[in-house]
Amino acid sequence: MLRIVDAFGRIGEENAFAVLARATALAAEGRDIINLGIGQPDFPTPPHIVEAAVKALRDGHHGYTPATGILPLREGVAADIHRRLGVSVSPDEVLIVPGGKVTMFMAILMFGEPGAEILYPDPGFPIYRSMIEFTGATPVPVPIREENGFAFSAEETLSLITPRTRLLILNSPANPTGGVTPKAEIDRLVAGLADHPDVAVMSDEIYGQMTYDGKSHVSLLAYPEIRDRLILLDGWSKTYAMTGWRMGFSVWPKPLYEAARKLAVNSYSCVNAAAQWAGLAALTGPQDCVGEMVAEFDRRRKVVVEGLNKLPNVSCATPKGAFYAFPNVSRTGWKAKALASALLEEAGVAVIGGPDFGVHGEGFIRLSYANSTENILKALERMGAFLASRK
Ligand code: PLP
Repeated sequence: MLRIVDAFGRIGEENAFAVLARATALAAEGRDIINLGIGQPDFPTPPHIVEAAVKALRDGHHGYTPATGILPLREGVAADIHRRLGVSVSPDEVLIVPGGKVTMFMAILMFGEPGAEILYPDPGFPIYRSMIEFTGATPVPVPIREENGFAFSAEETLSLITPRTRLLILNSPANPTGGVTPKAEIDRLVAGLADHPDVAVMSDEIYGQMTYDGKSHVSLLAYPEIRDRLILLDGWSKTYAMTGWRMGFSVWPKPLYEAARKLAVNSYSCVNAAAQWAGLAALTGPQDCVGEMVAEFDRRRKVVVEGLNKLPNVSCATPKGAFYAFPNVSRTGWKAKALASALLEEAGVAVIGGPDFGVHGEGFIRLSYANSTENILKALERMGAFLASRK
């Protein structure tokens, strides 16, 4: 009998992919399904980025690249960070990875082991907990509360740190809530971390360019006092509608960078060469495509929030970032996962149950508004009819 290691009994999944598979299967049976489940922009990658990849292939970029990524791209990331955040980063701190997920995989592998505790947002991206459990470390959820605007509470987060805490995972703007942690709260958190110099921080800022209401993104990179223990997770997937290209980048403190490079060498060798040249074109080319996409998400955000608040017994806080709404459905009489499943099977609307993002997600569902306004309006109508008929 084949026997794989026990860790695989603890590894989890992302239910959004299962919902996508079910929605696709229903659509294949001829059902009219509106997919508000999946977390990816519904726009194509801008043409100048696609062209750069085609050109790279024609120019013969077919071989391995350095495991850390091509130098022009690492320089491009450093320049982009300086342009957006006013923070100086050396290209030697930048690692090009096959998607943002790989940064969290590496960071959690570096700090997770039996006896270690890792703090992560709940509700939050499900892979954090899955990977923590895989390493045998103890996952310690940091509750992300609706009454706190779905922001991290510095006080509560700091109160969960123990002598065993090795890594704190932050995410703002956040999946699945759309919450953005205000600067004053991040200031307090960073100030409190001074008392815990052995705790590393991984800041997942993959939605950093998707903030609304004129608010600019606050990056943890802007805090020099924790730079020597900060891992920044970012990438191209959401900003440039490039989820399928598998392109991410991270910024690491020097001693960890070397460990991350070795993980790259031991696993994927390097990121697809042509995709790296496309990533460079994304950073150095016109940025209007990002602004236009965010403006469109902003318009839909208003539509979705207004519509959700009109549904019987549903209330929805206005998301401040990313492209998700996280309405409270606890007064509908439904458990969140049962409601998500019934909405897909009976109303043809794919959404994700809040508990798929952690225990504190009970009472909520996640809708991605990376879909056309027309489809969003149709989905809201179907949800309204469904809830009215199933009181
Ligand atoms: N971090 C968060 C919070 C996400 O929501 C996602 C994707 O949904 C990722 C990271 C992973 O991004 P990538 O597709 O670049 O691996």
